[in-house]
Amino acid sequence: MTTGADTSANASSDSGDDIVDSPDSADIAQAAAHGRAFDTARARAKELALEIEEHRERYYVKDAPTVSDAEFDALMRELEDIEDRFPELRDPDSPTQHVGGGVDTELFAEVVHAERMYSLDNAFSREELDDWAARVNRGLGRKPARYLCELKIDGLAVNLTYEHGRLVRAATRGDGHTGEDITANVRTIADIPARLAGAGHPARVDIRGEVFIPVEAFRQLNESLVEAGKNPFANPRNSAAGSLRQKDPQVTAQRPLHMLVHGVAAWQPEEGGEGAEAPSQSEVYAQLKEWGLPTSEYFQVVTSMDEVHDYIDYYGEHRHDVLHEIDGVVVKVDELDEQYELGFTSRAPRWAMAFKYPPEEVTTTLLDIRVNVGRTGRVTPYAVMEPVLVAGSTVEKATLHNAHEVRRKGVLIGDTVVLRKAGDVIPEILGPVTAARTGDEHAFIMPTHCPDCGTELYEQKEGDKDLRCPNSRTCPAQVANRVEYLASRAALDIEALGEEAANALTRPPEGQPPLANEAGLFDLDAEDLAAVKVWQDKRGKDAAEGERELVPYFYTKDGSKPRANTERMLQQIAAAKDRPLWRVLVALSIRHVGPVAARALADHFRSMDRIRAASVEELSEIDGVGPVIAESLHDWFTVDWHSAIVDQWAAAGVRMEDEAPEDSGRPQTLAGLTIVATGSLHNYTRDSIKETIIAAGGKAAGSVSKNTDYVIAGDNAGSKLTKAEDLGVPVLDEEAFEKLLASGPEAAAD
Ligand code: NAD
Repeated sequence: MTTGADTSANASSDSGDDIVDSPDSADIAQAAAHGRAFDTARARAKELALEIEEHRERYYVKDAPTVSDAEFDALMRELEDIEDRFPELRDPDSPTQHVGGGVDTELFAEVVHAERMYSLDNAFSREELDDWAARVNRGLGRKPARYLCELKIDGLAVNLTYEHGRLVRAATRGDGHTGEDITANVRTIADIPARLAGAGHPARVDIRGEVFIPVEAFRQLNESLVEAGKNPFANPRNSAAGSLRQKDPQVTAQRPLHMLVHGVAAWQPEEGGEGAEAPSQSEVYAQLKEWGLPTSEYFQVVTSMDEVHDYIDYYGEHRHDVLHEIDGVVVKVDELDEQYELGFTSRAPRWAMAFKYPPEEVTTTLLDIRVNVGRTGRVTPYAVMEPVLVAGSTVEKATLHNAHEVRRKGVLIGDTVVLRKAGDVIPEILGPVTAARTGDEHAFIMPTHCPDCGTELYEQKEGDKDLRCPNSRTCPAQVANRVEYLASRAALDIEALGEEAANALTRPPEGQPPLANEAGLFDLDAEDLAAVKVWQDKRGKDAAEGERELVPYFYTKDGSKPRANTERMLQQIAAAKDRPLWRVLVALSIRHVGPVAARALADHFRSMDRIRAASVEELSEIDGVGPVIAESLHDWFTVDWHSAIVDQWAAAGVRMEDEAPEDSGRPQTLAGLTIVATGSLHNYTRDSIKETIIAAGGKAAGSVSKNTDYVIAGDNAGSKLTKAEDLGVPVLDEEAFEKLLASGPEAAAD
């Protein structure tokens, strides 16, 4: 809201630059300041309007946006804010005042809509949504009878016209008044009936909804486009729009398009009143469903805003459990009489509001694609991007898995790419924004030789998508990654030995590495560590900008500059000699032998020598091992330098035997029980809860099934808790688990 807008409009006509700043001229100076602010705002508004219309043209007409929806929304927001401050800038041509979109007259005939197609107003926060509810209450003079909550489908708006139950026309939204005739294309979509089922259809009705491509089908479509040498789509919404707005309906017919309907307009009953409109939006949906039209399963009718907020919370957590992309929730006043009473603005109904979830998709620049050589020799390309904030964290790297995946995604180095990070999920590049290409982009070439040791890469099995470096013995990247892994929490849990220290020990920039591979880990001494040097920015007065120097990595005295304490490292390595056998097995980086198989092996054999001596048959008979693991383990021991690692560790005092279980002293209160822990617990970490369950004789499972006996749910427990509730599996909080642990299932049942 603005005050003194008229003054500022007047002042804007002259230049206030030479006004003297004296007490007498305070009013004039203030007016001039307003004038300048107004001029700046007007110039910015003009710029924004142009930019927004350009993006709309690319998005609605060309189906090839160059910015993410979040960036577009930010531009709209900025313009709306300016217009709130200076209402005289809100002219009828402003993008805020009309529905975005147009008609491509070269491709399609025009269709004038019998009733306008509107957009929706957006709420980006709960407060904005409550403000809308307050406006509705004021408009009606009371609270609406009910709200209808539904998902905002991220597709493209389509109008279907049915006359006496027959589909006669389908059109895009266009500018809201006039759309594009896409009847032939829409007839290819299996979800949309050419004739309505049942009887009692109105003489004429417009049915509105969203055409979309399901998330999984989008992935497959893009893959096939790239295989055919065509450009992939940036996201499911654009792929739906691009697939539907085709000159040739046969192309549309091959695309996995679906529709969900969410509104009606221009409803004319038959003469005599047959086919009258139902009294509420939700009852209209029931009617549409009866007629065989695709309605959504996900809507809910509620009577309070509290329940609306609950619905938003629920789908905020479950937005990826839905078949199609959603970018928010639409809240509608359910009663049609109330909708008529509230009416429309020039752009959107007053009786509905779209609540938008925080964006999970952004665009950024793909600066480079590099490759990383992992612990098992797998060579993985990864994207290096211009850092960008998405779903609450800054992202600059994302794995691309393998060269096949890079090709499948169709991304080039230098591309603007769509990056998605769904909640806690790992960031993923969805695809390139091909409309933003300049011609300077270039394709990634997968190396044929290991970037770390120069050995030729190979496919382990013919047709494998992954390439591997076969030099597992001395490839510096593999050795460094194995050393880092053996020290991780999943294995020997040596906290001081992280990525940096593993690199310093196995591939220092200068001199012989103290560790040629993991065999010598337990023989390291202070002298070995003292020789390790790393690069560091030079400090001190005489250091030039960016100058670096080699400094010792390990220190013995406090106050010296480098970073890792020698004594702490040696103490922790020594302590790791006494870990249980399964951890030692995990630490060996044997393919397929993770914590679960390692525990099964250790429980059964209790000694490294017995495992080493076992045949493939003996190994594969063990519950939790199986033939693949057995083979891999057996093969591993046949390699000399592998066996040498075990021998050298044993000689250095690493414990290679477990005590018998009855000696563990722990009462087996959880014997025979399968337990899943989920959410964050107060007294346990993810690993320690599993260890506790196993130590008490239980089985710690990773997923909930009907065989699960208990689920322990901590804070923010998610889908596992829901599944447990669905299956009727007993759910325990931490306190109840302690009871169970202390006294077994009978006690927990009390
Ligand atoms: P909108 O998409 O925010 O909302 C209006 C539309 O939502 C309606 O036309 C309707 O078809 C659809 N909708 C989906 N589910 C619905 C449901 N359950 N009930 C009712 N309607 C439902 O508004 P808009 O004006 O179509 O487009 C604006 C949005 O489009 C922007 O916020 C942005 O996300 C995107 N956009 C992006 C670019 C870009 O360059 N990236 C450009 C223009 C628009």
